Amino acid sequence: MSLLLTSASNASAQLKLNKKAIGAVDKGVKAATFSDADAAKLAGEAIAYMDTHNEVAAADDPYMVRLTKLFSKHQNEGGLKLNFKVYKVKDINAFACADGSVRVFSSLMDIMTDEELLGIIGHEIGHVANKDTRDAIRDAYKTAALTDAAASQSGAVNSLSESQLGGFCTALLGTKFSRKQESEADDYSYNFMKQHGYNVTALASAFNKFAEMEKEAGDNRSKSEKMLSSHPESADRAAKVLEKAKKDGLAKL
Ligand SMILES: [Zn+2]
Repeated sequence: MSLLLTSASNASAQLKLNKKAIGAVDKGVKAATFSDADAAKLAGEAIAYMDTHNEVAAADDPYMVRLTKLFSKHQNEGGLKLNFKVYKVKDINAFACADGSVRVFSSLMDIMTDEELLGIIGHEIGHVANKDTRDAIRDAYKTAALTDAAASQSGAVNSLSESQLGGFCTALLGTKFSRKQESEADDYSYNFMKQHGYNVTALASAFNKFAEMEKEAGDNRSKSEKMLSSHPESADRAAKVLEKAKKDGLAKL
């Protein structure tokens, strides 16, 4: 799972906690071998929880109509059958999860063109295809298992209780991928756009929009409201895309 932009408020505190907790689990009880199927199962539970705790756009909602139209040809990508929903929320975000669930926030759709959305969601699908989301689920599960003696002692991957799911989802949404993972997801998206004949430079313009928002947020907002990206500098990412597009003869104005 991945955040494009996240509030600075508790994400960094959460990450510190996670790292500490994961370390403790590694030293003590090891989780059993964590398979793709385990990740998909837990991802499904987390997604079901988030779907009930967010306002999901109905099938005939204009947001959902637009997203469905955009992704009708892309139901199978990254080795998974995908399912799409829109959360009608103010945060600017989108994520994909290890079970093939893609969730797009309406506020992101408000500011992006169709092809920019394809580029951003292509990036999120890249995290799934590259198994980044599986590893994020595994780490979040280890953290959750630590707080549950039964789960950690059996070593098996158990279902999470309703009371565990909130923390599990918070940990997932706080996942910070490495720069390498982010770059590889950008590459995945670039190839996705190219392969399907979309304008690859839309990916660059989406990153430039993030760069603008990061700049504004940096100047005008209180610390807790500040947006920060777990990704490499958005402007650098945009430049990298444009460079590749030029090389491929795909840099349209
Ligand atoms: Zn990412």
